[in-house]
Amino acid sequence: MTYNNTNGVSSRAPQINKNNIQENKNPDIKNTTIKKPFKKKSFFKKKNNFGKRKSLGTHETAFKLKPAKNKNPNIIDDKIRILTIGGFEEVGRNMFAVESKDSIYIFDVGFQFTSEDETPGIDYTLPNIQYLAENKHKIKAIIITHGHLDHIGGIPFLMTELGNPPIYTRELTALLIKKRMEEFPHIPKIKINLVEPGDQIKIGDFSFEFFNVTHSIPDCIGISMKTKFGNIVISGDLKLAHKDGVPIEREQTTWSKVGSEKNVLMISDSTNCENSGWSIQEPLIHENVENYIKNAPSRIIIATFASQFERMFAFIRSAENLGKKIILEGRSIKSNMEIAKIAGYYTPKKDTVINVADIDKYGSDKIVIICSGGQGEEFAALPRMSRGDHKYVKLNNRDTVILSSSVIPGNELAVRNLKDQLLRHDVKLITYKTSDVHSTGHGNAEELGWILRKSKPTFFVPGYGYHSMLKEHKRIAVEIGNVEENNVIVPDNGTVIEISSPTDVKVLPFKVPSSPILVDGYSVSDIKKTVIADRKLLSKEGFVNIIVLINIGKRKLQKSPDILSRGFIYLRESQNLLSETRKLVTQLAEQEIENAGGGKIDIDKLKEKIYEKLELLFLQKTNKKPILIPVVLVV
Ligand SMILES: [Zn+2]
Repeated sequence: MTYNNTNGVSSRAPQINKNNIQENKNPDIKNTTIKKPFKKKSFFKKKNNFGKRKSLGTHETAFKLKPAKNKNPNIIDDKIRILTIGGFEEVGRNMFAVESKDSIYIFDVGFQFTSEDETPGIDYTLPNIQYLAENKHKIKAIIITHGHLDHIGGIPFLMTELGNPPIYTRELTALLIKKRMEEFPHIPKIKINLVEPGDQIKIGDFSFEFFNVTHSIPDCIGISMKTKFGNIVISGDLKLAHKDGVPIEREQTTWSKVGSEKNVLMISDSTNCENSGWSIQEPLIHENVENYIKNAPSRIIIATFASQFERMFAFIRSAENLGKKIILEGRSIKSNMEIAKIAGYYTPKKDTVINVADIDKYGSDKIVIICSGGQGEEFAALPRMSRGDHKYVKLNNRDTVILSSSVIPGNELAVRNLKDQLLRHDVKLITYKTSDVHSTGHGNAEELGWILRKSKPTFFVPGYGYHSMLKEHKRIAVEIGNVEENNVIVPDNGTVIEISSPTDVKVLPFKVPSSPILVDGYSVSDIKKTVIADRKLLSKEGFVNIIVLINIGKRKLQKSPDILSRGFIYLRESQNLLSETRKLVTQLAEQEIENAGGGKIDIDKLKEKIYEKLELLFLQKTNKKPILIPVVLVV
């Protein structure tokens, strides 16, 4: 470890050298000028190309919100409301807002990756901004706590609807937002103002003070929003840098200062509150992995999250110190290292990083590969290596593979498959379960309690987590954090909390819209529950389409009904069921023609009957309930 603070995670380790940014010779970023924090309009004046990939289309034009049915009662006098829009019933999709009579301030604009089981075909979900969009004239600012996608991922989709208000955040977060925006070239330029811990700024009628928090990506901020009732403290995602359960001096200073002011309410991260004690510290991870790098008999391949900047830097430094070469594999890893260079965080020594095509020019014991794909993502570097699909890296039983990451909920099966594939090459596999090679970015119970004891808020709102996590955080707040039980509010998404005085904070009897917005391929829309339900049914039961053609002149079936199916049963090998189906449908149709006499045939009734009878038949014969689509045509 070469940086001084004992934490190595949150505080930006090497100081950003602003000159580096402007003198950078990278032709892609030479036009990006980042000046001293604050008072700048935007540093996104010119286009650059790093991280460039094909456009994802025109999401923003497809996004239309329906008008609200119920208007919320207006805010009276100088009361303040907190609108918990997303991230209070899930991990991800983080967004909430603070509203006064004349202004709205938004904190984070995240998205949530969705699972194929829950929402098949849906890429991710966004917070519901309907209320905010309808009141966009009041929006004064968006403040982003840090650069993880569950805090910035919604920006490209939602900025236009929000009226493109200015964003306030720290430098790395700004660079990550900018990189993402390049995938959406049709969206108007966004304005970002840089802030730093210690800055106090006024936006509209309110003042904001920013402070440093520790998490798993650099440049995280917590925020104290000053109101006449006391400060509203917003933690963002966080943990504590500590030594054996004693927070380091930097944390002590930061949180003593936060607690020295009158804090009416705090919203804080619940992600890891179900873990007792104190979290594992990042430097231990660096040390352990360094030992593996030192002692590996041959190549060492480390998969980690690309946003774990300081961990990547630590691994590269270890390799440098041990005279080894580094190969970076994976788009996100390469592009984040590029950002690290641009921001002046870290540039590896010349010749340390080699091209993967040159892998055979060095002894196998000189090679360290840092790659993406630890979550089993199909096309990422490590899964390709595991399947033997990687052009240059063919695994063998002398290789050591480290998964320096936890398993994100929903990825369990993909990670299981990855491990199985890796072990078919008999590599030495090391995971966070067998060794300390990954540490979380979120504080455990004791850390969260300590933070509350230090900040001393009168009211507490657990955030960033599932309901069960929020409830557990409530317990911690009361038992460890010294918060009055009656003063802990556990909201749902959409809850409106009103602050009327330093001692009067309550949940109002109405909500703002909060059902998630879906990003489905190129379209962004309100949730369509029936579409999702159909997709689930299709994936489990398949569908059957029956086409009945009636010759109205002859008053009989033109031909035997057509039956098409997908994902149900293989009809060609189920001739009995097929002929039984045809027979049944023919009977029903003939009966309906007969019932009509010479009059009009009731097509809807016939479709309904076909539906009912076939549903029963298929259930009896196959124990399945496919989606049935009867079509009756009259010629
Ligand atoms: Zn985070």
